[in-house]
Amino acid sequence: MSERAIRAARALPGPLSRRRFLAGASAALLAGPALAQSGATDVDVAIVGGGAAGIAAARRIAGSGHSYVLLEAGPRLGGRARTVEALGMEVDLGCGLLPRDFHPLLAAADAAGVAVTDLSNGPRLYVEGREAKESDYDHFLAALGQARRDIRAAADAGKDVAVATVMPKPEPGSRSGPWEATAADMLGPLGCGRGLNTLSTLDLALRTPPAGNATSPVGVGAMLQTLGAWLNLQTDAPVTQITHGGRVHALRVEGQRGLIRARAIILAVPAPVIAAGAIKFNPALPRRLAQAFDDCPAGALEQVAFLLPGNPLRLEADERILPRAGKVPALLRGRVNGTDLHILTFGDGPAREIAAKGKEAGLRLARAFLGEAFALAPETVTEVACSAWTADPLIRGAMAAARPGKGAQRRLFEDPVQTRIFLAGEYTSTDSWGSLAGAWESGEVAAAKALALLGDGPS
Ligand SMILES: Cc1cc2nc3c(=O)[nH]c(=O)nc-3n(C[C@H](O)[C@H](O)[C@H](O)COP(=O)(O)OP(=O)(O)OC[C@H]3O[C@@H](n4cnc5c(N)ncnc54)[C@H](O)[C@@H]3O)c2cc1C
Repeated sequence: MSERAIRAARALPGPLSRRRFLAGASAALLAGPALAQSGATDVDVAIVGGGAAGIAAARRIAGSGHSYVLLEAGPRLGGRARTVEALGMEVDLGCGLLPRDFHPLLAAADAAGVAVTDLSNGPRLYVEGREAKESDYDHFLAALGQARRDIRAAADAGKDVAVATVMPKPEPGSRSGPWEATAADMLGPLGCGRGLNTLSTLDLALRTPPAGNATSPVGVGAMLQTLGAWLNLQTDAPVTQITHGGRVHALRVEGQRGLIRARAIILAVPAPVIAAGAIKFNPALPRRLAQAFDDCPAGALEQVAFLLPGNPLRLEADERILPRAGKVPALLRGRVNGTDLHILTFGDGPAREIAAKGKEAGLRLARAFLGEAFALAPETVTEVACSAWTADPLIRGAMAAARPGKGAQRRLFEDPVQTRIFLAGEYTSTDSWGSLAGAWESGEVAAAKALALLGDGPS
C-alpha cells in the first residue's frame, strides 16, 4: 500500500483495524469527487447499485485489498430494503424479513453489532377475525404442498407453462377450496407480485422458500446501511453509460465530468432498470441477454404501514397473519417489534394501484382488508405510509420472475457480459430469486468471479 493510503486509513477515527486500513486505502485511490471531476479515475472493480447484492460484493472486494468504488444512484444504501421514518417510528417499507439460517448475512450483522431477532415459524391463518382451526391449517398446508409438488412435477417433465394451468382445481363447495385459493395467493401475488397465469412453472419450481424468518429490530434497511457504512461509496451517483474499452471498461456517472475506469464491473442494479435501458451499453448488450431481461419482468409488491394503538386485533409481537382468501388478499405483519406498528403487504393488482395512486389507495385497501378479515371499523385507521417500488425509476418493481415458457432464461444471468461485467442481484439467483439472501449471495458470487478475473493480488 502507498504511504498515501496508510495516511488516509490513519485519518479515520478509531483503531487501525485491517478493515479500516482497506477502507482508507480505497478512499485514497479514489480520492473523492474532486478527482472524479477532473479526469478519469481508475479502480480495479466498480460496483454499480448499493442494494444487498452491491453491498455484499463491495465488502468482498474490499476484503481482497483491490481498489473499488460502490456507485449508488440514490441517496442511501439498501435498495429494496429501506427503513424510513414514518408514523413517528422507523418503518421497513421494503424487505422486512431475512431467512433465519442465512449464515453470511447473520455473521455480518453479528460482527457489526446489529441485533437480529428470530421470528416464530410461518404466518398464522385467520378466518373471520379469529385464528383458524387445526383442520383449516391442515387444508392450507395440504393445498400449498400439493401446489408445490404439481409445479415441480410439471417442471421435471419439461413442461414450462403457466403455473395457473397446473394448480389443483378446487372442487365446488369443498372446505379446502378457499385454502387452495389462499395457497395460490401466497405463491403468486403475495409471494412474488404476479398472478399465477403469468409465472413459469420451471422458474417457480426452482425457488426455495426459507425454512424460517428473522428480522432486525433496527430495520432491515438500516441493518444493510450499517453493513455498508465503511465502504468506499458514492451516493447520488447514477451510472448512465458503460463502454467496453478492451482491458478496462469506462463508466459515466450522471453529474460527473470524469469517467471511472474499471478492470471489472459488478452490475447490481434491478433487472427492470437494465431492461428499461436506464444504462446505455457500448457496444449494446448481447441480444440473447436483452431478451432474457424482457422475459423476466418484475412483479409488484407494496407495503402499507399504519398504527393500531391498544392492540385491537389482540396480536402477539411480530405476529404474521394470513387470512383465508377473500376479496382483498394481503399479508399482515402485526405489532412490529412489539409496537403499535402494523404493515400490510399487497401484491400484483392492488400493489400496482398503491404505487400509482399512493396513500389514498393504500388507506382504502388497508381499511378494506381490515374490515373483511377482522370486521374492524374503517375509521380505526386514519393515516398510512406506503411504498411505491413499482413507480421508483431506480427499482421499477418488486422482483423479477420468468414468464411461462421462459424459465430457463434466468440461467443466462450467470454468464459474464463482455468478459468483465458480472451481473448480481436477486434476479440472478436461480433458487433464491426475489429474496434478500439470494441478492446477498449473488453479490458474493459476482465478487468471486471478478477477483478470479483480476488475479490474486491488488493491482
Ligand atoms: C415490498 C417488498 C417486500 C420484500 N420483502 C422481502 C422479505 O421479507 N424477505 C426477503 O428476503 N426479500 C424481500 N423482498 C425482496 C428483497 O427486498 C430483494 O430481493 C432484495 O432487496 C434485492 O436486492 P438487490 O441488491 O438485488 O437490488 P436492490 O435492493 O433493488 O438494489 C439495487 C440498487 O441499484 C440502484 N440503482 C439503480 N439504478 C442505478 C444506476 N443506474 N446506477 C447506480 N445505482 C443504481 C438502486 O437505487 C438500488 O439501490 C421484498 C421486496 C419488496 C419490494
